[in-house]
Amino acid sequence: MKTKVKVPSGRPAGHLICPVCGNSEEFIELARNVTVTTRYSQNQDGSFTPEENETDVQGEVRLLCGKCSADMTEFHHHFLDMIF
Ligand SMILES: [Zn+2]
Repeated sequence: MKTKVKVPSGRPAGHLICPVCGNSEEFIELARNVTVTTRYSQNQDGSFTPEENETDVQGEVRLLCGKCSADMTEFHHHFLDMIF
């Protein structure tokens, strides 16, 4: 079990940089086994309007480099901490 949050050592300090291609701009978060539940109501004319949208992630979530797709999941906790 991993409890330590790995903090990237890029420059400027704390910046996430792909160890393979050096990309520091684009990243991909990949979630597996996602259940998306959307509630619809039917209108008088028979059309539907989405009312509620719920996303439930059961599987692992991985962090990938947006350019070369290198696996950077070890930085995912840091990534989540830095989303504002
Ligand atoms: Zn990369």
